[in-house]
Order: sequence, then C-alpha cells, then structure tokens
Amino acid sequence: MRTGYDLELVHVTKRYGNTVAVRDLNHVFAPGSYVCLLGPSGCGKSSTLRMIAGHEDVSDGSILLDGQDVSTLAPAQRGTAMMFQNYALFPHLSVRDNVAFSLRMKGVDKVTRHKKADELLELVDMTRLADRLPAQLSGGQQQRVALARALVTQPKVLLLDEPLSALDPFLRIRMRAELKKLQRELGITFIHVTHGQDEALALADEIVVMNNAVIEQAGPARAVWATPVTEFVARFIGGHNVIALEGGKATVRADAVTLADQGMAATVTAVEYQGASVAVTTLTEGGDEVLALMPEEQFFTSPKSPGDAVKLAWDEGRLHRLRA
Ligand code: ADP
Repeated sequence: MRTGYDLELVHVTKRYGNTVAVRDLNHVFAPGSYVCLLGPSGCGKSSTLRMIAGHEDVSDGSILLDGQDVSTLAPAQRGTAMMFQNYALFPHLSVRDNVAFSLRMKGVDKVTRHKKADELLELVDMTRLADRLPAQLSGGQQQRVALARALVTQPKVLLLDEPLSALDPFLRIRMRAELKKLQRELGITFIHVTHGQDEALALADEIVVMNNAVIEQAGPARAVWATPVTEFVARFIGGHNVIALEGGKATVRADAVTLADQGMAATVTAVEYQGASVAVTTLTEGGDEVLALMPEEQFFTSPKSPGDAVKLAWDEGRLHRLRA
C-alpha cells in the first residue's frame, strides 16, 4: 500500500496588501513525516498552512501535492485537511454527525457516512461519546473529534494549526503523544504549526524554523537542536550560548560548557540549583552571557558563587560557527 505523498512549495509568496507574510518559500515535505512549522508569532506559519489548505490564495508560486499543482483548487479538492486551533465543531451536531459532516456535503448516504465516522471515532478512542454534543465534551475530547473530522476525508496531508494550545499543560503532553502515534499509524504527513520549541522537538521528524516570512533552517529535529545555523535559530530553539569569536559568532550548548582550569575568562553572575544539574550564568570578558549547565555532582566538587572568576571550557567539536 502506498503511504505518504510529496508536498512541495515552489516559490510561494503571500502578500496582504503591503505586508509580505510569506516570502518565496521553497520546501519539499518528505512523505509520511511529522513536520513542525516553528517560529514566533507573526513569522508567517499560519499563512503558509492556510495556503497549503486552500483557505488562503497564494500571491505567487505554487503548491504541488503528489506531483499535482493544487494551488488553485478548492480546499475539499486538494487532498489536504485542516484541524483548527479552536476545533470549530458544529455545536448543534452530535459527535458522530460532526465527524460525518464533510461526507454528507459530498452526498455520501447516511449508513455509509456513519460507518466511516464510527471507524474514525474508534481510531481516536471516542466511540463511547459518539452521541454527545460538543458542549458535553472536555477540551481533549473535542480535540479528538476535530481530528476524526479532519481525517474522515482520508487526506494525503493533515494540517494542524496550533492544535495543542487550547489544552492545559498536562493534557497537552498527553495529546502530543497521541498525535505522534496517530501520524505513525496513518503514515501520512502531518504539518503542525507551533511557536513552542519543546513541542516541536518532542513531535517533529523535521522542524522548519520560520522568521520574518522566510525559512531560517529546516532539518531533522536533532540537527536543528544540535547545529543551529543562524543566531535567530540558536536563540529560538534555546539551550545554546551565542559567543562572539574572531571571525564571527558561534554557538555552544549550555550542557557542553564546563568550568575548568583553562578556558575563556568569565565572571559568575548567577547560580541556580536545578536538582540534576546546576545552571551557572556567567559574563565573558567579551560581554557575552554564557550559561554552563553542569551535572550537580561536578558543580559541587568545586562550587562557585556570583562574583567568582572562572574559566569556561568546551570540546572544540561542540562549537558551531553561525552563518553571518
Ligand atoms: P504566524 O502564524 O506565524 O503568527 P501569520 O501567518 O498569521 O503568522 O502572519 C504573518 C503576517 O501576516 C503578520 O504580519 C500578520 O499580521 C499578517 N497577516 C496575517 N493574516 C493577515 C490578514 N488576513 N490580513 C492582513 N495581514 C495578515
């Protein structure tokens, strides 16, 4: 069985009047992958997602799905489905009828569409609540219904716009595990918009980092985390120190920095005990703030206090030059 389809953005631009929300995006989404579009508010993530879904026209460029240019097709004709942040369930329809809604619009008979809806409700573990109204469901349950409703059309690509942001932190972590599991089971590409780097790291096979309407960096989650190519990505993904060196800037991860006898001179500005590790914030002579995240045992063999002069050290291999 064929699982997964290529989705390709070719010189995609979105303008709203004078605002360029998305500038000349080029990207190939690998078939059957979990992709997170990550970036701060206003960087163009939702516009990108809405153009893929067909809820927004492309100003320039094209969107190819499975080799076909879908840029001008209506949302229902594209082979994509979208799950919205607020779920957008119909309040007067039962869970089952919400899930079956798009099939009803396509003229599918009641028995067939209910059978299909029930299969999807089974998939998201909501069979028991099929006859309820959305108002009678918790946030997490509403989300499952919204997922089932998006998947009932058998999309080639599922688009999720900040799908977890309406949930409390505990549920968010549970639902993200379920989303990941579902994506694996279905084998289709999920494109998930988020501004949370922890969410992107937890979920994504591939992270596409956006800033100011362009892609700053795209790659496997571990590569983006370990080797950010720009200062923006380094700071946004977190856990990195950006250090000015001769010939440009570089990053080194906080957990790769230790205090040693030899190294870059710095002064401790803060010490925070975090249990398993101790976060030592320092200021280098060059004026960069550098965080050393040290295993607590190592720190307490020679504890430091704010005001102490220290030497910062790391393995050369852990230092990554940034693109200017
Ligand atoms: P994100 O999802 O990353 O927060 P958006 O794609 O929503 O970013 O927005 C990108 C830019 O486009 C922002 O400057 C935003 O204000 C602008 N924008 C988004 N939607 C519209 C719209 N319908 N009309 C005008 N400007 C918009």
